Amino acid sequence: MWTDPIFWAVVVLMAVAMEFWAMFLHGRLWHGVLWPTHESHHRPRTGPFEFNDIFAVFHAGVAMFLIIYGFESSHGRVSELMIAAGFGMSAFGMAYFTVHDGFIHGRLPVQFLAKFSYFRRVRNAHKVHHRKDHVGPYGLFLGEWELRRAKKRRIAARQSREVMGA
Ligand SMILES: [Zn+2]
Ligand SMILES: [Zn+2]
Repeated sequence: MWTDPIFWAVVVLMAVAMEFWAMFLHGRLWHGVLWPTHESHHRPRTGPFEFNDIFAVFHAGVAMFLIIYGFESSHGRVSELMIAAGFGMSAFGMAYFTVHDGFIHGRLPVQFLAKFSYFRRVRNAHKVHHRKDHVGPYGLFLGEWELRRAKKRRIAARQSREVMGA
């Protein structure tokens, strides 16, 4: 398992897929029916924790279940895939917590990340989300890409309106 490239490919794929999953959940649910919980992240924090952290705890629980169940069961390929998926989720969770909560919201001493232009750009894109409630980008690592895509769509919509009006 540890030397199987497919195992590690699944780990990486799962970590990348989590960005899109987070983007989807954040936009559709956190800013939808689960806004009463997520709102705690859009207001100034009063202690070390916020109600919104429950989403991280939930995902950590799913990842732990996949890893523990994968190791405990002996279903060969299926168990390995569960472990790989759990690892990918954990890697994303740690990266997300470090960059989003630690770096952008100052909950961890990781301000050295500001030395890298990529992380500064991730921070700037995320700040756009915090400036106004219920406006993207909802993803984190691809936030800038999401903003660019939204801008292109606005331009295309305006152009099509102009063509119709002409
Ligand atoms: Zn939000
Ligand atoms: Zn935030």
